[in-house]
Amino acid sequence: MSVLITNVGELVTNQRGPGAGAAMYGAAAGEVGAARPPGAGRGGPARFAALADAALVIDDGRVAWTGPASRAPAADQVIDAGGRAVLPGFVDSHAHLVFAGERGAEFAARMAGQPYQAGGIRSTVTATRNATGDQLRANLRRLAAEMLAQGTTTFECKSAYGLTVSDEARSVALAAELTPEVTYLGAHVVPPEFDGNQRGYVDLVCGAMLDACAPHAKWVDVFCERGAFGRDEAAAVLAAGTAAGLEPRVHANQLGPGPGVQLATAVGAASADHCTYTDDADIDALASSATVATLLPGVEFSTRHPYPDARRLLDAGATVALATDCNPGSCFTSSMPFCIALAVREMRMTTQEAVWAATAGGARALRRTDVGHLGVGARADLVMLDAPSHAYLAYRPGVPLVAAVWQGGERMAGG
Ligand SMILES: [Zn+2]
Repeated sequence: MSVLITNVGELVTNQRGPGAGAAMYGAAAGEVGAARPPGAGRGGPARFAALADAALVIDDGRVAWTGPASRAPAADQVIDAGGRAVLPGFVDSHAHLVFAGERGAEFAARMAGQPYQAGGIRSTVTATRNATGDQLRANLRRLAAEMLAQGTTTFECKSAYGLTVSDEARSVALAAELTPEVTYLGAHVVPPEFDGNQRGYVDLVCGAMLDACAPHAKWVDVFCERGAFGRDEAAAVLAAGTAAGLEPRVHANQLGPGPGVQLATAVGAASADHCTYTDDADIDALASSATVATLLPGVEFSTRHPYPDARRLLDAGATVALATDCNPGSCFTSSMPFCIALAVREMRMTTQEAVWAATAGGARALRRTDVGHLGVGARADLVMLDAPSHAYLAYRPGVPLVAAVWQGGERMAGG
């Protein structure tokens, strides 16, 4: 059954390349905004683009048509958007959702002046190992539902809190129940039982643990950071993962300057995540590669660290994505609208850049061409805002503006 959503005040399409409904496009068809294309990414031109007074047809779970409402074709069902904005569903390309326990007290202590350190992860590891699979599944599903209600229609999910062969394998298998974007992050921190034997743990991550996790995962990730894993160790983890058929991504330059960004670009990682402390060479490397700089401003908000220099990355031509990093320690938000608001207010991204980064940027960070835009043929993952334009996501921070969500053409949430 086809569905026409018409009377859309602003339809953000992030239209990709020629052929995808291009005839409906351009200034004459009511294009209301286009940001300068980010740099040399994969998959055609990259820019925010939107239509005013638009309509969209969903058929068979895909976007079948977009264009001016006045030219909309007939459909089996018609939904009047009443002048509200419709966007691609958010693509959250960085989340840690398989865990047990919570760290509210640690957050409160941090806000009272104690610094965040990577070792805090260990308390979640203990809780996760002690949890049953059903407990982990219930927590994961609760968070996934929370994301969906806030407009996230695609999310990545990492393991990272098991850190034994069986606990990591359990984590990736649970994540795979809900998303194809599963990341093996055995190399998150060295667990306590390997204190003094970092090398032994890296061998495990590259060996038996990888063998157990690879069948359920698409990605391999490593926390390349002082207090976690150094450059050579991270390179070994990524090489082993790649040899097992996984694609690389890297936690890079979060807590201080380091080799993570350079490593990510050198190995052709899909994404270097965090990029909070970058120098000229790091910016150049990101701008001249297809590696996406995934910024996670909720982390800086929740750890009171300085924000990444998004403006410099964008102006240099790097491709920038926004994601939540939803996890119980350094950032426990699941809200992409909140991250968009932070990106605009705190990192000086334009509202167009921030929305592009939270949709199409995230899709690039996951090497997906079917989501993050509403070109003809895209998966019909959409968000309707209770607002006339995308700018309201930053203009009205903290307000639940997501009025309805479609995933694969199916209405999932909202009235
Ligand atoms: Zn992370």
